[in-house]
Amino acid sequence: MIIDCHAHLDERALALKTLVRKMDEEGITRVVLMARITETLEPEKSAMLLAVQRTVMNSTALRPIAALTSTSFYDERGELRRAWRPFTRGGKGYVKAQDPDNESVARALSLYPDRFWGWVFLEPKRMASPLEQLERWRTLPGMVGVKVHPYWHQYPVTDLRPIAQRAQELGLPLLIHLGFGAQGAYRWLIESFPRLRIVFAHAGIPYFKALWPLIRVHAHAFIDVSSPHLSEAFVRRAVSVVGPEKCLYGTDSPYGFTLPDGSYDYARVKGWVERLPVSTAAREGILGANFLRLLDV
Ligand SMILES: [Zn+2]
Repeated sequence: MIIDCHAHLDERALALKTLVRKMDEEGITRVVLMARITETLEPEKSAMLLAVQRTVMNSTALRPIAALTSTSFYDERGELRRAWRPFTRGGKGYVKAQDPDNESVARALSLYPDRFWGWVFLEPKRMASPLEQLERWRTLPGMVGVKVHPYWHQYPVTDLRPIAQRAQELGLPLLIHLGFGAQGAYRWLIESFPRLRIVFAHAGIPYFKALWPLIRVHAHAFIDVSSPHLSEAFVRRAVSVVGPEKCLYGTDSPYGFTLPDGSYDYARVKGWVERLPVSTAAREGILGANFLRLLDV
């Protein structure tokens, strides 16, 4: 069973029907969807920018530079600043989605209950009563966890206290995309909620190797191997440090990797996992069994 545990629902880039067809072509049983992160469609970053970003973030000495640079990406309204637009493919700007559209994910789950699960995407700063939102959506069949993005939505991880508390009580996993400094307080999160199952998105971006040893030893911490922010070689290193049993296949579809026809390349990240120098059982774990274990189903 192959489960892509990290994907966004953004029908402007990839219609549900096309997504299901691509899943069939690649033998993907299920995709765990979350709401899209931009109001306007996100343009791709260039491959060079992604490689530079990855190197800078993974270096303890250079990380402050990455942190400083990242604060200049967006204005107060969440729009990519003009100065950064030349570094995106096509040079276009985009606007962040501040209020995640969980409704759209709920719709996808009801249309294809046997192909999709969903993450309830919460935002503790602007969302009116995130805990009520959690109650509203979590009871929907197929909603399997909570997604939070302190980097994108710019808040300290400590703002997640009530959400993390409730997720821990309910036994729901928390998928988190960390930011820098207070927006990336992973140690606080792990230590404050020792029974909370945490998935660190994109191999623990932007801390990567600084975070990996902690994930290796904490029973309830995992990484997903999704996104164009990573590369095949990088994923190989991450898996070797945290251990394959702590890794989950995810893509970040439909963002990043495109085919010449402009549609999403669903084979890319799966190929990275298929070529990993690990046992068949370990590979099957990454591709789906670990996620099932995490959900306790
Ligand atoms: Zn994502």
